[in-house]
Amino acid sequence: MQISKSKALFEKAQNYIPGGVNSPVRAFRAVGGDPVFIEKASGAHITDVDGNSYIELINSWGPMILGHNHPMIKEAIIKAMENGTSFGAPTAREVEIAELITGMVPSIEKVRMVNSGTEATMSAIRVARGFTGKDKFIKMEGHYHGHGDSFLIAAGSGAITMGAPDSPGVTKGTAKDTLLAPYNDLEAIEKLVLANKNEVAALILEPVPGNMGLVLPKAGYLEGLRKICDREGIVLIFDEVMTGFRLAKGGAQEIFGVTPDMTTLGKIIGGGMPVGAYGGKKEIMEFVSPAGPVYQAGTLSGNPIAMAAGLAMLHHLNSTPEVYATLDSIGDKIVTGYRNSLDKLGLNYTINHIGSMFSLFFTDKEIFDFESAKHSDTALFGKYFQSMLHKGIYLAPSQFESLFLSTALTDDLISQIITANEESLKEILGK
Ligand SMILES: *Cc1c(COP(=O)(O)O)cnc(C)c1O
Repeated sequence: MQISKSKALFEKAQNYIPGGVNSPVRAFRAVGGDPVFIEKASGAHITDVDGNSYIELINSWGPMILGHNHPMIKEAIIKAMENGTSFGAPTAREVEIAELITGMVPSIEKVRMVNSGTEATMSAIRVARGFTGKDKFIKMEGHYHGHGDSFLIAAGSGAITMGAPDSPGVTKGTAKDTLLAPYNDLEAIEKLVLANKNEVAALILEPVPGNMGLVLPKAGYLEGLRKICDREGIVLIFDEVMTGFRLAKGGAQEIFGVTPDMTTLGKIIGGGMPVGAYGGKKEIMEFVSPAGPVYQAGTLSGNPIAMAAGLAMLHHLNSTPEVYATLDSIGDKIVTGYRNSLDKLGLNYTINHIGSMFSLFFTDKEIFDFESAKHSDTALFGKYFQSMLHKGIYLAPSQFESLFLSTALTDDLISQIITANEESLKEILGK
């Protein structure tokens, strides 16, 4: 595989852009080697500047659930552009998308559009604090909620201790209001809540976390969180930036039947354009300015082009429920093929899978939280990633990510993926 143009671009990029990329994971540091620069994408394929074409298993980290450059979304964007690209004033499309979102995700009674998932989670926490009059919130180790200061807190020394900043530039003052708990451990939450009685405004989590690799909630876990939050007057926030409109049209909350007070959305909601949203119960969302006192604004929020793309995407998902059965079947076929190869080759592995999301971990330990995810052999994953890339399969460049499938994956492409996977496994095992 020839990647000389990508290499040259990456070298030049490093002169002008920190690390040569506009989001860190794109630099391939977790897997080694140089990143490929992308020229275009269509359907199930993405093509780099050297002309190499790859089958997509990451799909812009989730948004391209129908595959790349879907004609329906492309047409909606082009049509919207004819009337201008930004007004900074209300439009009919914003009303339409808000109505559609509240219909698809019933726990959302009112919704505010923003420009990214990061903005959505930052704003949701501010609103929960304003609504409850409390300062602290609980987040789970290994869950990602964008790069807002108060979310960049790593595991400290045990769950009861205050968080320590994960990045320079996050102040100790900010970090002390973020309380950390391991995922899938209700007892840890009970202890935290007891030690911070009447001080916790919100509990935010990815109901099905995909940012430490894919991990599933244990039976009763989400229900347990709901009960604790009800008892303690804590706003339960589901960060469904990744799972919203992906696992089901109503997200993880629909599948697991647990209703949060607030939900954050992103990725799929913009149909590939930069969009996020947060919403929830009427009485909480009525705290948002100008209805209420909690300030939150955005020059480009509800941008007409972005709304056109998002509307086309959501209308399709809402009116075509068989999309999710198709995605489930694609996921099942790939994972079954992977398991057959892995068992045959006798490699230690764990696959976590739900619908169109899955992660292959190089460990035989069960993975149910951040600590257990760390058992994976990341060096082996790096080799596997490079081997798959050379066989024309584009994976997330880190062990601690989920893969995202699209409806563009045909049976023929699925066979190609399964074959490439088996060959890559043999290669890294030296077989
Ligand atoms: C991607 C992601 C975010 C951040 O969204 P951006 O649009 O990258 O700011 C927040 N939460 C979750 C669960 C995500 O997967």
